[in-house]
Amino acid sequence: MRVTMTINGEQVEGSTAFDVINPATGEVCGTAPTASAHQVRQAIDAARAAQPAWAALGHTRRCELLLQVADLIEAESGRLAALITTEQGKPLSGPGSLFEMEAAAGFTRVPATLPMEPEVVFADETRRDELHYAPLGVVAAIAPWNWPVMIAIWQIMPALRMGNTVVLKPSELTPLATLELVRLIDSVLPDGVLNAISGDGQVGAELTADPGIDKIMFTGSVETGRKVAGAAADSLARLTLELGGNDAAIVLGDVDASAVAENLFWGAMINMGQTCACAKRLYVHSDVHDAVVEALATLADAVPMGDGLDEANVLGPIQNKAQFDKVSGLVDDARAHGATIVRGGAAPEGPGYFYPVTIVTDISDGVGLVDVEQFGPVIPIVRFDDLDDAIARANSSSVGLGASVWTNDADIAREVAQRLEAGTVWVNSHGTVHPMVPFGGSKHSGFGVEFGVEGLKGVAQPRIISYAGLDA
Ligand code: NAD
Repeated sequence: MRVTMTINGEQVEGSTAFDVINPATGEVCGTAPTASAHQVRQAIDAARAAQPAWAALGHTRRCELLLQVADLIEAESGRLAALITTEQGKPLSGPGSLFEMEAAAGFTRVPATLPMEPEVVFADETRRDELHYAPLGVVAAIAPWNWPVMIAIWQIMPALRMGNTVVLKPSELTPLATLELVRLIDSVLPDGVLNAISGDGQVGAELTADPGIDKIMFTGSVETGRKVAGAAADSLARLTLELGGNDAAIVLGDVDASAVAENLFWGAMINMGQTCACAKRLYVHSDVHDAVVEALATLADAVPMGDGLDEANVLGPIQNKAQFDKVSGLVDDARAHGATIVRGGAAPEGPGYFYPVTIVTDISDGVGLVDVEQFGPVIPIVRFDDLDDAIARANSSSVGLGASVWTNDADIAREVAQRLEAGTVWVNSHGTVHPMVPFGGSKHSGFGVEFGVEGLKGVAQPRIISYAGLDA
């Protein structure tokens, strides 16, 4: 598969091209363009030129067009899902690429149906003040490799809805489905409204440093997020940063292990654990520790893993070699620190970046596998007796994307949730994002929120119109 970039309604090649690897085989599965600095500028100029007319269409017409885009995404979902599986690794089945495409349609439809009326924030006999949300201008969207299409949609659709135009750069590890999707969407939207360029971090750096960018929606690692924030310092571009996490799940002693195990398992394992808001460290009360470990191990034994194009599989490979090395290195290091590897812990022979579901016990904070975002199919389980201590450990991280508490006691759930330092705290689930519910990180997990009305406001310029002496 050879894909092209979309700049001002045209399909274009880059100055050079790069290979994309299928992580299930380790073989090349496609080729994508590298945008030249000139093409980055062309894409920004095209977005800039298209923006006033797009804004002038108004909410109603823009929403109609975005609903057409949602229909198109649905119609093309089978083909695009196969492409995602081929370049990203997540299987077609289960919470995999077909699920990702379904979510992409949903996360397009919802922002196109949310009301955005001006709010009257103050009124008396002398004045009336209205809060409006105007377009910002040109939005740069930079996406990661874990949910390539869905996260690009999270960034693009609210921005377009609010009257901005967009230049998108997918990850160089997973550009195929996203560039193909933008090519399709471009048939519905006016030229220049949505542009997509590809390439590595250098292209991302050129895009984010450009003074023609008004807002950057960045999703990726904390390390790159810092660079993006630095790049925005000169232009004072607005920022939404969705960065890494090391989400803690605290499982209290009153749960029925067999009842919570499946949601806990998928809360940690969705997309092979390569999800920003996966449960990445479990703190499990001693009373239920062994039963929870046993139940998770039973699930691990039963889940079929393999090439995701085979619909019998529900877990696939790790997406890339660097990530594979990081995950296996963290497990080896935990083993060297005396942890028990209950399941998994060694890669199978054969092609691809497969790594088994790995459950690790007899481990605690201070070991890399607990302290670092592993971003892979590994669940470190820390035993605890004292809830205050578990909360303190959960909060001891520099990141705070999500967290969860698992219990049958609503009062304790509420109390623990209020004490956890995270952008979202789930009770009895983990990572269950929804297009109506704002989502974003605390601490080094970033700032700003996506989704819902708050997400729309995040890609808009608040504008007060203050009336005096007019019966407006
Ligand atoms: P990454 O930071 O390596 O890359 C993300 C994107 O940034 C890629 O498109 C890359 O090409 C680009 N990039 C690299 N250097 C750049 C630079 N100097 N300037 C501008 N862009 C640059 O992240 P990744 O490895 O692709 O993604 C995994 C990380 O993303 C994990 O930490 C994960 O937790 C995080 N993530 C967060 C969320 C969230 O919503 N908070 C969602 C998904 C993933």
